[in-house]
Amino acid sequence: MIGKWNELEQIQPDVYRMLKNSRIKNRVAHAYLFEGGKGTGKREAALLFAKSLFCEQITEGIVPCDHCVNCKRIQSGNHPDVHVLEPDGLSIKKEQIQTLQEEFSKKAVESSKKLYAIFHADKMTNQAANSLLKFLEEPNRETTAILVTEQVQRILPTILSRCQVISFKPLSPIYFKETLLQNGVSPSNATVISHLTQNLEEALQMNSQEWFAQAQKIMVKLYETLRSNPLKALLYLQEEWFAHFKEKEQIDRGLDLLFLIYKDLLHVQLDKRNQLVFNHLEKVLEHDALLISSQRLAEKMSVILDAKKRLLSNTNTQLLMEQLVLNLQEGSSFV
Ligand SMILES: [Zn+2]
Repeated sequence: MIGKWNELEQIQPDVYRMLKNSRIKNRVAHAYLFEGGKGTGKREAALLFAKSLFCEQITEGIVPCDHCVNCKRIQSGNHPDVHVLEPDGLSIKKEQIQTLQEEFSKKAVESSKKLYAIFHADKMTNQAANSLLKFLEEPNRETTAILVTEQVQRILPTILSRCQVISFKPLSPIYFKETLLQNGVSPSNATVISHLTQNLEEALQMNSQEWFAQAQKIMVKLYETLRSNPLKALLYLQEEWFAHFKEKEQIDRGLDLLFLIYKDLLHVQLDKRNQLVFNHLEKVLEHDALLISSQRLAEKMSVILDAKKRLLSNTNTQLLMEQLVLNLQEGSSFV
């Protein structure tokens, strides 16, 4: 997804700035920890940074050329001074770290520098982590380590304290929407889906599901029932809603959609109409936004989030949804 330095700048501006500064000011750390959710560009950034350290024709102090022999070998995983470690099976084992250390005790093959990256660093066994710790405690001036993880809370504090932590934020839905449009998703679906996932595969699957198209209509209908005829909302649940939302995963998706509708209502109240997800509801939302206090709206949104949490535990989903609908009915004339 991110292949170029300027794409990283666009997607993760803070990360870009920190890495650029350390490179330009010649303050590259001995060890970095790249942490953040799936699909936020950590792996790509690690590769880019490696290239920028080894590239023969760097520009602007940081941008690798992508076609010199070093760039090409890093891209294909064949650079003798750049090593990548990944879990062997379920974990990263002590032997893997030891092999790495042996490799690093040798002189760099082609330059004075060496770099290693450890992907899924949270999967190190305790022994592997302790081996790595010793390695990090004797920093070699010419060695750079990049640890990458989606689960920073699982990294040993002793390791954490020896790394410069670089946090990757979730991507803006706007950026992911562009990717979806390029993949042939319709504008209205791309807007909704970009707020529900940032995983392209899952997004395209959702886009092609008849179930998902129907789910959007049914959630809008539930909202419209709540606002125009709240006493019928429970009946609507029984008669139509449960027939479509059967599995917990489906109900969870439905709650996400409902939350987005209320968030749209909030955006109308805040006069941020350009952020609407359900554009076709704008007229209805304009009307409703005047009738509900921002405090009551915030309560309704948190009631939905609460239902999502309770869904995770072994809850009776029928009761959960009925309770939710009752909570959403209360407190104002229509919703
Ligand atoms: Zn290059």
